[in-house]
Amino acid sequence: MMDESTARLEAISRRCAEAAAVSGRDAADVTLVAVSKTFGPEEILPVLAAGHRVFGENRVQEAQGKWPQLRERFTDVELHLIGPLQSNKAGEAVALFDVIETVDREKIAAALAREMAKQGKSPRLLVQVNTGAEPQKAGVLPGETVAFVDLCREKYGLVIEGLMCIPPFDENPGPHFALLRKLAGETGLGILSMGMSSDFETAIELGATHVRVGSAIFGQR
Ligand SMILES: *Cc1c(COP(=O)(O)O)cnc(C)c1O
Repeated sequence: MMDESTARLEAISRRCAEAAAVSGRDAADVTLVAVSKTFGPEEILPVLAAGHRVFGENRVQEAQGKWPQLRERFTDVELHLIGPLQSNKAGEAVALFDVIETVDREKIAAALAREMAKQGKSPRLLVQVNTGAEPQKAGVLPGETVAFVDLCREKYGLVIEGLMCIPPFDENPGPHFALLRKLAGETGLGILSMGMSSDFETAIELGATHVRVGSAIFGQR
């Protein structure tokens, strides 16, 4: 019998493909990042066994507690850091993650550049944009995004591949996704990480290349 999370994963993958088709996009251009935060190996294993390989975690320490072991069995996992990064955790983040989606200030850019040189590792990097300019939320402000991406490139030699956002909880996400796409256009970036369980189809229709879906796959946290 099929595990519940595996059935939900299949349904979400199908909905991603349908949303891509609706907007004339290729389903292969949308990557589903399964957000496994708060869930343990016993919940993650069925999803790995079903063949899924791209996962997101929001805390460095939590990810360190489960992914090294899971990776011994599933060596081709691609792990994304989708939560805020402290500069004193940059070394651990560079060692563990394949994609860091939350570069959002100069101190982090500097710490990542240093650790990447030291470890000889180059995780792919996205800049988080605080599209709603919410005071409590991480991310660069929309108006500072182009300058920050330039700073990362020119001062720190970082290759920034795209942008990520988390729209305000209580607003229509569409305008935020459209803003992120516009900013990516201005900075010449191809990757757009946007859309979660409740709005990933809208995000895909507005150009998301990566959607981060947690509860719709793993269940309520
Ligand atoms: C938890 C989380 C998600 C997934 O949220 P769901 O609503 O469970 O799909 C996506 N992005 C970030 C940054 C998160 O922290």
